[in-house]
Amino acid sequence: VSDDGFDIWLQRGYLGLSQKQQNIDFTTPHIDMDVSLAAELQQAMRSNTLAIYLQPIINLRNGAICGAEALLRWPTAGKYLDIEQLILLAERTGLINELSLWVIDQACLAAAQLNRQGYREHTISVNLSAKNLAIPKLVEKVENTILKHGITADQLKFELTEFALIKNHDEMVSFISELNKLGSKVVLDDFGTGYSSLNYLVNYSFSTIKVDKSFILDLVNNTTNQVVVKTAIDMAHNLDMNITIEGIEDQETEKMLIKMGADQGQGYYYSKAVPINEYLSFIASQFK
Ligand code: C2E
Ligand code: MG
Ligand code: MG
Repeated sequence: VSDDGFDIWLQRGYLGLSQKQQNIDFTTPHIDMDVSLAAELQQAMRSNTLAIYLQPIINLRNGAICGAEALLRWPTAGKYLDIEQLILLAERTGLINELSLWVIDQACLAAAQLNRQGYREHTISVNLSAKNLAIPKLVEKVENTILKHGITADQLKFELTEFALIKNHDEMVSFISELNKLGSKVVLDDFGTGYSSLNYLVNYSFSTIKVDKSFILDLVNNTTNQVVVKTAIDMAHNLDMNITIEGIEDQETEKMLIKMGADQGQGYYYSKAVPINEYLSFIASQFK
C-alpha cells in the first residue's frame, strides 16, 4: 500500500471500524469474491459436486430425440446460481480451460453410457468459450478423451458463439477445420445475438446454426421474429447447413417451426436439462 493509499484507508476508517459500521463499500469485493468462489469451483470440479445435465434435442421431422446439449450445473450451490455468471467467473479467474476440459470429459463419459444402452446415434453437444482456444493442443486433448472413453468423434459436437469468432478469427478457422477432420461437428450457438457479418456463416465450416431463444420465446405473437426465423431457416438450408431452434416452450411454437422447415428443436416443451440417469429414462420412455 502506498502512503497515499494508506492515508485513504485510514480516513475511511478501515483499521478502526467494520465495514458495516461505516456503511460504505470501499473495498474491492469482486476480487475477493472471485478468488474464494473460484477456489470453491475448483474444489467442486475435483469432488464431482459439479455436474453436466443433458437437455434433449429433437428431430422436428420425426419427433425423435437425436442428442442432447451438455449444460453445466452446480446442484449444491443452490438454485440462484446463474450458469452464465459462473462461466464469466471461470473466464475471469483463468479456470475456464480446466473447466471446459472437465466438461468434455464428462460429456464423453455420458456418450459412453449412452453407447452401453444402445444409443449410438445420440450426440452430446459441449459449449466452448472463446478463451478455450488458448488451450494448448485442444483438439489433441479432445481426441485423447474420446479414445479414453471408447466413443467416436461423431458423438461429440461443439457449440461456439458468434462472440468467440469475432475475437479469435484465425485460431477459430483452424480449430473448426481440425475438429471436422477429427469427425466432430461444430454448431454456431446463439445465432442472431451477435453482431457478426454473414461472412462468418460462409467462411467457417459449421454444420448447424442454432437460433437464440430470444427470437423464439414470443414467436407465436411476434411477426417480426417470425420473419427473422423463417429467413434464418431458409438461409441455413441454402448454405447447406442444419438449423436448430432453442427455447421451444409450447406446442404452438413447435408447430410453427415445423411448418417453417426447422430441422431440430430444443426447449422446456420437451424437457429441461436433467441428470444423465433421468435423461436415459426419458429417452427409454420415448422409444417404447
Ligand atoms: P446456451 O448454450 O445457449 O444454452 C441454452 C440455455 O437456454 C440453457 O441455459 C438452457 O437451460 C436454456 N433453455 C433451454 N430451453 C429453454 C426454454 O425452453 N426456455 C428458456 N427460457 N430457456 C431454455 P443455462 O443452462 O442457464 O446456460 C446458459 C448459458 O451458459 C449457455 O447458453 C451457455 O452459453 C453457457 N454454458 C452452460 N454450460 C456451459 C459449459 O459447460 N461451458 C461453457 N463454456 N458455457 C456453458
Ligand atoms: Mg449452447
Ligand atoms: Mg444458445
